[in-house]
Amino acid sequence: MSGTEGAAPRVTADRTVCVGAGVCALTAPGTFDQDEDGIVTVLEPRPGAGARSAAREAAALCPSRALRIAEVFNSA
Ligand code: SF4
Repeated sequence: MSGTEGAAPRVTADRTVCVGAGVCALTAPGTFDQDEDGIVTVLEPRPGAGARSAAREAAALCPSRALRIAEVFNSA
């Protein structure tokens, strides 16, 4: 095993700093959505391989820095 095969990012959002800009839901609609107040919700905290780059892009574009993408390495 290479040690990176099981790597999967963990996505979290700080709803207390989100300003409802909606960039996340537009950039990575499979990972993020907004509630009725426009505040971010995480739809998929462990996005699949095909959704990870969009999730990272959304985190980079978020104007309030509300999103975190933490790299997680499976120990199993
Ligand atoms: S891009 Fe950032 S500020 Fe805008 S809705 Fe998403 S988390 Fe909130």
